[in-house]
Amino acid sequence: MDCEVRHVGRLGSMMSMSTSSVAYRSLRGGPRTNLADLVPLPAPFTVYLEPTNICNFKCSYCPVHFDDYAERSGGLSRLTLEDCTRVFRDILALGRLRTLNLYMLGEPFANKRLPEFISLAKQLDVADRVIVTTNATLIDEAMARRTIESRLDYLRVSIYGTSNSRSAQVTGSKIPLNRIVANVTRLKSIRDERGSAWPHIYVKMIDAGDAEDNKRFLELFGPISDQAAVEPAMNWNLPKDEVNLSGPHENLDAEHFRHKKTACPFPFYSLVVNADLRVTVCCVDWEKAPRSATCVIRRFSRSGTARRFAIFA
Ligand code: SF4
Repeated sequence: MDCEVRHVGRLGSMMSMSTSSVAYRSLRGGPRTNLADLVPLPAPFTVYLEPTNICNFKCSYCPVHFDDYAERSGGLSRLTLEDCTRVFRDILALGRLRTLNLYMLGEPFANKRLPEFISLAKQLDVADRVIVTTNATLIDEAMARRTIESRLDYLRVSIYGTSNSRSAQVTGSKIPLNRIVANVTRLKSIRDERGSAWPHIYVKMIDAGDAEDNKRFLELFGPISDQAAVEPAMNWNLPKDEVNLSGPHENLDAEHFRHKKTACPFPFYSLVVNADLRVTVCCVDWEKAPRSATCVIRRFSRSGTARRFAIFA
């Protein structure tokens, strides 16, 4: 799981870059339009479509690790190709997207139909770019080939530590780090052999709060990816949460978090469609609960008829 929109900078400013032929970290450097001049939008710029909310990791700062996660998130689901097709048609009835993110909570590759979803999105021209964020543990050779053939634009890989012990501590999984390294290496090598630059492979790790650890990460993943970066930790806790999802990341008071937003721009330009087809306007609303009168949450129509959301109307 990952949600880069949490790190979107200034309120009221949105990227308008339309091609995917740029390195991932350069995407945010493109020309920006002022969101305040455009709202209310007839359609979202960005949709997060969740292939599944099931994950083979149980990260300490992710709701997936809660004992009652399945119950609180409304059950464990995998998107079907039929429902994916309906969602894409509904999206296109609203308007073409700038970005389709095929991830939300869960590990996207835990749904083996993921490459079919990507291919369909490209075939229907749903968005300027399609992005998948993964822990890379399930990308074996066959899946690597299918992913490359799907014409995915960006593959973002999340790393949780530069040693087996650290990774196991954070993820609650004994999957060795060298399997992730091997999977990323193989995918890039198959892609390069085919003479393709896509998917662009971006590997990132949350700031370990340890300069040596961060350096090890860049040395390990820099050479086997197109870009590797240490990103700031995020804080998506609610005051009522009984568990500190920020876990061991004491550096949440870093400079990045000193600039509190007065309002979140997310609901004004993006939408989340969960694997069970429930729709929310908040990227951290894993319990899918409406939180304000302005956030109208409806299911995408199973009949294929697109519905407009009050927030975009
Ligand atoms: S990899 Fe970790 S952070 Fe991502 S969905 Fe799984 S448990 Fe959550």
